[in-house]
Amino acid sequence: MAESSSHVLIFPFPVQGHVKCMLQLAELLCLSGIPFLTFLNSDHNHRRLLLDSHFLASFPGFRFASLPDGLPPDHPRSGIRIFELFDSISAVTKPLFRDMLLCGRLNCDGRPPVNCIIADGIFMSFAIDVAEEVGIPLVSFRTFSASCFWTFLCIPRLIQAGDLPIRGDDDDMGRAVSSVPGMESFLRFCDLPSFCRAADPSDRALQIVATETHLTTRAHALILNTFDELEGSALSHIRRHIPNLYAVGPLGAFLHAKLPESSRRSSTSLWQEDRTCMAWLDARPPKSVVYVSFGSITVLTRDQLLEFWYGLVNSGKPFLWVDRPNSVAGEQQVPKELAAATRERGYVVGWAPQEEVLAHPAIGGFLTHSGWNSTLESLVAGVPMICWPYFGDQQMNSRFVGEVWKVGVDMKDCCDRVIVEKMIRDVMEVRREEVEKSAMQMAETARKAVAGGGSSRASLDRLVEDIKLMTGRRNATQ
Ligand code: UDP
Repeated sequence: MAESSSHVLIFPFPVQGHVKCMLQLAELLCLSGIPFLTFLNSDHNHRRLLLDSHFLASFPGFRFASLPDGLPPDHPRSGIRIFELFDSISAVTKPLFRDMLLCGRLNCDGRPPVNCIIADGIFMSFAIDVAEEVGIPLVSFRTFSASCFWTFLCIPRLIQAGDLPIRGDDDDMGRAVSSVPGMESFLRFCDLPSFCRAADPSDRALQIVATETHLTTRAHALILNTFDELEGSALSHIRRHIPNLYAVGPLGAFLHAKLPESSRRSSTSLWQEDRTCMAWLDARPPKSVVYVSFGSITVLTRDQLLEFWYGLVNSGKPFLWVDRPNSVAGEQQVPKELAAATRERGYVVGWAPQEEVLAHPAIGGFLTHSGWNSTLESLVAGVPMICWPYFGDQQMNSRFVGEVWKVGVDMKDCCDRVIVEKMIRDVMEVRREEVEKSAMQMAETARKAVAGGGSSRASLDRLVEDIKLMTGRRNATQ
């Protein structure tokens, strides 16, 4: 049958958060009966990706392929230098990607030709041009929230309404934004994605984000790692522009629901996980520990590091801190009192098994940069968040956490040690009952979305059918 020869190519933007959730989607598609999948990594990430060996053994139709990302091996690929990836991918990866598809290089080992592409929708929209040229249907995957996607789609409207560029001084950042439909009652200028802070509406990053988002309307469909009950309003606004929309999240929870405990894969990490923190957590009382992680791209200044560290230590709570290699700019000289307090009640690792950490009963709060994966993982675990958004979509995610879902607090543009301490105490003591209750309710709603009869489960089923239909149609025309 034509449908049995579906061969899907999955192509993420090559950074940890995007690779992780697109691998989760790949695994779900394998589990749902898509027979052939190729996951296209950058060479750089491919060398670093740590997968359990049983992953490939479980899915004989799954393969990795890789292409250069155009940057030298020692490039940091983090902080604001992450944007250099955009230019290098466009110059180096794009023509190689086109050649790969035109020459049929992925049709080896008895695999049928690629007949569906699922490509990252941010910074990778060139895949739409290539897919149209080679006549393969393309589905766009956005690893951000639906609310962020909807706001990006509204950028021309924001500019037309005179809301962008943001005018005035810092006080104006607290004003309400009226030109993102559905968010009038809570969205402030400081909550807009960081690209919107550009002083000039023709700013390159702002224009790239707006253009790339608009291009998604040319894709066959759009996949989002979210669920209807979490972002119903934004999803219904997007559906008016992109009716073929699949909300299939939270992908991590979905995999947990689909896979038996014994066969769960532990990692899709680019860094080696330090699992010693699990034993340290075992020895801590329930809900006593603050987990601190700023994700895979954030780079803190030395001053920011010290403010967070003093705030944490002054809060008196035990803490587990992910100090990712090269995540702080400049020299680090640790004040004696911080070193002593950390020995007494802290534990520091280079990279943690985050989803397992968040699910540990000792965790009472998550000090996070509000990356979308981290936000979803915390929601699924029912852990309240203390948010310090760094850039991109994170400014919006933190507003939703603090004001819409009420599952934490939003520090926004400030990380003064007094504020850090106060926010930690708010979540862990003063407002604990209230935020914990909302967090637990949200975790339950997320679990239902991915369970039998749930909204994301239904969306994934429709997506799989859609892929089978479109690949069957393409095979019939070959
Ligand atoms: N992560 C992890 N261990 C760590 C820190 C982060 O496994 O010590 C994972 C985390 O679970 C999440 C991803 O890295 O899935 C980070 O993605 P996110 O979207 O939160 O932020 P980004 O790194 O893209 O800024």
